[in-house]
Amino acid sequence: YDDRDGVIWMDGKLVPWRDANVHILTHAMHYASSVFEGERAYNGKIFKSREHSKRLVASAEALDMPMPYTIDQIEAAKKEALEASGLQDAYVRALVWRGSGEDMGVASARNPVHMAIAVWPWGAYYGDAKMQGARLDIAEWKRPSPETIPVHAKAAGLYMICTISKHKAEAKGCSDALFMDYRGYVAEATGANVFFVKDGEVHTPLADCFLNGITRQTVIQMLKDKGITVIERHIQPEEMADFEQCWLTGTAAEVTPVGQIGDYTFEVGDITREIAADYEALVRS
Ligand code: PMP
Repeated sequence: YDDRDGVIWMDGKLVPWRDANVHILTHAMHYASSVFEGERAYNGKIFKSREHSKRLVASAEALDMPMPYTIDQIEAAKKEALEASGLQDAYVRALVWRGSGEDMGVASARNPVHMAIAVWPWGAYYGDAKMQGARLDIAEWKRPSPETIPVHAKAAGLYMICTISKHKAEAKGCSDALFMDYRGYVAEATGANVFFVKDGEVHTPLADCFLNGITRQTVIQMLKDKGITVIERHIQPEEMADFEQCWLTGTAAEVTPVGQIGDYTFEVGDITREIAADYEALVRS
């Protein structure tokens, strides 16, 4: 992805794509002092842009990184980067990180904080067979306790176990991995939240130790508006045997039906299809 035309917004300037580099002694490279957002633009407009900017600021605060830009400046920067891309439908990646400077140890208060925004085309996150039902592996790692790490920050450090779990899943021919949390309850996938259906009601894990996704919140509201009961609660993995339908939500994943998790199988049913179609209509409205 580095050798291509285009520009990337970096610290207030549009830099040629190939020149958007950082120094090898960047603090973030050594100690995961970076936070980010994944956003999607539809028809030239970023869906829930302000919510993403707010979460970016909250994530930076959680990592004790003073944000060099206000919400309004982040909004303007994302707009500038999107317009410069010439794309109508695109993925938008905003990144905030601790740079190189006097501090090469764990503490980094004297090093500057930077922001960059890159925009590129990104189709269906789990490939073109999106509506057929993805197959998920069950991850060996657990989502950590809120006493262990700032679990609600969209911080690079929280993705270490996501990458290794997703590699393992893909090696087994799965599209993704589902995590349990530190207590053993069902948590989330490596970059998406999970929903289940049983007897016409929707069950989803309580977001008390993982990212409460913007898509998750949107979909919960959409379901409630349709008069469908949504129960946010702790879910035991064995309960998956009784769930009839399952889908994932995320900015990149949108609403992706799930056909199998480990040995548990699900049908791509009516509520799943309806909510996927409704979400598609909403983001484009
Ligand atoms: N969980 C994780 C770990 C994620 O990376 C994402 C994607 N940002 C989500 C959930 C879904 O969040 P959102 O709907 O805000 O994209």
